[in-house]
Amino acid sequence: TTSRPHSEQLYAEALQHIVGGVNSPSRSFKAVGGGAPVFMKRAQGAYFYDVDDNRYIDYLCAYGPIITGHAHPHITAAITRAAENGVLYGTPTELEITLAKKLKAAIPSLDKVRFVNSGTEAVMTTIRVARAYTKRNKIIKFAGCYHGHSDLVLVAAGSGPSTLGIPDSAGIPTSIAHEVITVPFNDLEGLKQALERWGDDVAAVMVEPIVGNFGMVMPKPGFLEGLCAMTREAGALVIYDEVITGFRFHYGTSQTFDAFPDHAAIEPDLTALGKIIGGGLPIGAYGGRREVMEQVAPLGPAYQAGTMAGNPASISSGIACLDVLEQPGVYERMDALAAKLANAIKDSADRHGVPLTVNRIRGSFSTHFCAHPVTNYDEAQDTDGEAFAQFFRLMLEQGICLAPSKYEAWFLTTAHTEADIALTIEAADNALRQMAR
Ligand code: PMP
Repeated sequence: TTSRPHSEQLYAEALQHIVGGVNSPSRSFKAVGGGAPVFMKRAQGAYFYDVDDNRYIDYLCAYGPIITGHAHPHITAAITRAAENGVLYGTPTELEITLAKKLKAAIPSLDKVRFVNSGTEAVMTTIRVARAYTKRNKIIKFAGCYHGHSDLVLVAAGSGPSTLGIPDSAGIPTSIAHEVITVPFNDLEGLKQALERWGDDVAAVMVEPIVGNFGMVMPKPGFLEGLCAMTREAGALVIYDEVITGFRFHYGTSQTFDAFPDHAAIEPDLTALGKIIGGGLPIGAYGGRREVMEQVAPLGPAYQAGTMAGNPASISSGIACLDVLEQPGVYERMDALAAKLANAIKDSADRHGVPLTVNRIRGSFSTHFCAHPVTNYDEAQDTDGEAFAQFFRLMLEQGICLAPSKYEAWFLTTAHTEADIALTIEAADNALRQMAR
């Protein structure tokens, strides 16, 4: 059992200076019963060390970017080299071309890319570009998909399957939310209705082609194919938000994922990227078809800029991360370890009579405390948050770090070992046994 007096102390101090004590709300423990989040001071490979010197096996992985483990020597060397050469120029560099070419080689639909600083920026700009290209205003998105915190995508579903959105945050004008239509994920009929009703005004359909934000959820067979066909039929663009999924399951995006049979039928017009492509430093990128991307300034009328965009540190870190991921066997190994872990957790839950749905996609999986399948946001919401909170805390006490939310996934890295998996399986079995009582 871990004790964390120093974390408690730092949290009390942080609360006085930083709103909510955290710099992103998802880091607070609000969704798992409150209290002090763990303050980490060091991370190495698959491990975190907190300010009280407890060690944790990390499955949070910074919400996705950390896929090679913490402080990977190849990435650390690249960042160090970049720091020594000056971290920010405000001029183009050759490094940017290198990373752009790597992305293009892995993602066939990218004729041109642009680097920004976060996933939020990448998504926000794809919407502007789609609007500029189509000269239409409305956006269709799917309930529960998260696309960053910009106004347009922080919009929740209205009351019906194809009604106008309502703001999901204070400070977003209803007029903006009314430019967004939200339909359930995996629901082609809902999308069809929305396009029939609003089609002539729809600039783009925005989707996480594989959902990473209400657990890991695969599109049903035919969903992406249908989505792309219907969207094009309506004269709108398809935008894939691959901020969390890009390079997570294999070296590429959904567009080239071998789980999908017909790659030509699921090609997006625009793709938003982030997280892994920066190797842990701040980054975002968007790209797509030449005619669409040529809307962007200085070539076209759609404006997007950034003082920090394409900075040599983030770009160097991203190149180094992709170098590591290009090595043979890297994804197969994460896949095998995740399969072992996810299957063992599911077996434990069954043995102890705890209802649990595990959705695994290669090296990531989600654990929803429920007896039904999770294929859309309604089903993910309808899970036992208190059971998750209890599981989260029992795991934390045993040195296993998960994201403090029932909607987040577990991520494996290239640094996790068989021994880490064995320890985690044992911890999960203990936790589930206690929960059954
Ligand atoms: N899109 C998706 C699919 C994401 O998962 C996230 C972040 N969790 C974002 C966009 C926003 O990225 P960032 O936090 O880098 O702004």
